[in-house]
Amino acid sequence: MAEVRLENISKIYEGDKKNAAVKKAVNNISFEVHDKEFMVIVGPSGCGKSTLLRMIAGLEEISEGSLFIDGKRMNDVDPKDRDIAMVFQNYALYPHMTVYENIAFGLKLKRFSKKEINERVMQTAELLEIKDELQRKPKALSGGQRQRVAIGRAIIRRPKVFLFDEPLSNLDAKLRSQMRIELQRLHREINATMIYVTHDQVEAMTLGNRIAVLNKGQLMQLDTPMHLYNHPHNKFVAGFIGSPTMNFIKGTIQYRNGYYFNHEASGCKFLLGTEIHNSIKKYIDKPIEIGIRPEDVYISENDNNKPDCILKIMAFENMGNEQLVYFSFAEKTIIVRRSSQTDLELTAEKGIIFSRNKIVYFDENGNVIV
Ligand code: ADP
Ligand code: MG
Repeated sequence: MAEVRLENISKIYEGDKKNAAVKKAVNNISFEVHDKEFMVIVGPSGCGKSTLLRMIAGLEEISEGSLFIDGKRMNDVDPKDRDIAMVFQNYALYPHMTVYENIAFGLKLKRFSKKEINERVMQTAELLEIKDELQRKPKALSGGQRQRVAIGRAIIRRPKVFLFDEPLSNLDAKLRSQMRIELQRLHREINATMIYVTHDQVEAMTLGNRIAVLNKGQLMQLDTPMHLYNHPHNKFVAGFIGSPTMNFIKGTIQYRNGYYFNHEASGCKFLLGTEIHNSIKKYIDKPIEIGIRPEDVYISENDNNKPDCILKIMAFENMGNEQLVYFSFAEKTIIVRRSSQTDLELTAEKGIIFSRNKIVYFDENGNVIV
């Protein structure tokens, strides 16, 4: 049983205390990680992910707020007494030790018996499929194998909570996706609470039971992967989750026998509907921004559907199973994702249609309206 609770946690690094506007590397973050949950913390580089994780591990002092594990306040508890194991991006293996010795090291320090150590090492090696590597040194291993050893070293201690700080970042794309599957299996098999930090939204989406999205030290949204994707609370989350990213268009809503969205610079104006949500009506003739994902924009293939905009094709990418089409749109691009792979002509003009019920509306501060 291991529940981790963060209450109004902030981090102010020594050097940042003097400035008048104190910089908080982590700014007033609260959330709870349930027992046996796989929680992912995701956000761009420098947003405070590692700082947050290191505060949970006890490697960094908590400036403000409280950390609880199973209801017990941990702020002043030594890292070694928190019953937490952390896996880093740069494996941090002992180069002169064999894989066996690397995995066994923690238990040896704790004076476990040789027999117990041996049993646990074998069990761990089996789980991570590195049994054949036990007598080798780290330098003789591939990146993926080294990362498994680093994970093995954490698992063998059977801690209450696992913390991972971008453990797959040094691996190539194929190995990364394979390790993602392995981590899911591992989580199922050892049934522990895990907190996993990454800047990679694909990793976050595939691994997390829930995902905490961070930006500039602040929690933007905490939700299940599908909820983040389908119901982002703000423009940051909408743009960060999903690849290619959501299309954003600034414009105004106008009323003339129906509610229209108008993007003046491109001459693109289309009917949203004869009725729209009341909260959006408040923005009539005021600046507003809409967002729509690439898979929710269609190329109108026949003349029966009146297109919302007519735009020029700048580029397209055939991915095998789908096609990404880049339309030039004022100074920007609108990306369309489609399953059809018919050849398109560069610079050709095509009509596009926005799926009305998939449009997301943002106010000037980037918060979702409605
Ligand atoms: P992330 O892991 O998301 O990339 P970090 O937690 O490493 O972000 O960093 C968050 C912010 O705190 C950054 O602005 C970084 O420069 C700053 N920072 C990180 N470590 C220290 C430190 N030891 N001293 C001062 N500032 C730091
Ligand atoms: Mg980091």
